[in-house]
Amino acid sequence: MSHTLLLATRNKGKIEEFRRILEAIAPGAINLVGLDQFPDLADVIEDGATFEENALKKAREMSMATGLPAIADDSGLCVDHLNGDPGIFSARWAGSHGDDAANTEKVLQQLRNIPDEKRGAHFTCVAALYLPDGRSHWEEAEFHGSILRAPVGEFGFGYDPIFLPHGFAQSSAQMSAETKDAISHRGKSLRAIAPHVITLLENLG
Ligand code: IMP
Repeated sequence: MSHTLLLATRNKGKIEEFRRILEAIAPGAINLVGLDQFPDLADVIEDGATFEENALKKAREMSMATGLPAIADDSGLCVDHLNGDPGIFSARWAGSHGDDAANTEKVLQQLRNIPDEKRGAHFTCVAALYLPDGRSHWEEAEFHGSILRAPVGEFGFGYDPIFLPHGFAQSSAQMSAETKDAISHRGKSLRAIAPHVITLLENLG
């Protein structure tokens, strides 16, 4: 029997990535749908103090609104020299939501006098599952690297052009989606939660 699961995103790339992960573990077990199937649903206000709170809130509200089990993720960039900022404020670090160029420029400015060895940073992602019966589960993963001195690369989004993953000579904006998925915070947290999703949904009967 196939279970329907909502992935609380309108991003088709995220839906396809998670569908591939679930299919590899349990072919045909999960029918994954995105928010494009629910055009009237309002966005959830992300006012939690942590990635976990925001991811769980999104999953819970989307599950309650649709009656479906729901998965949501919340992620951001944590810079060592900035004591973990921008963190949960990553999408609106320079003021307006989703202005990637301004956010990136602000981080570069904040680190302009900081030497290479102190430019460490990581992305964090929490993937959370909420079931209509109130059970929940979440997984957190990190992607470590350092902050470059200028943007480079055209793929990806957000802070990718200024993020140099540990052990690589290219920014995460110079990597193919497949290479980044294999090592990224989001890829790792989705692969970690996938077996729990399958077990919990199968136990629903
Ligand atoms: P969201 O939780 O996926 O919406 O991500 C919040 C913000 O964190 C994004 O708007 C980006 O600024 C940043 N971010 C999260 N993941 C990544 C990534 O993989 N690359 C670059 N920026 C990211």
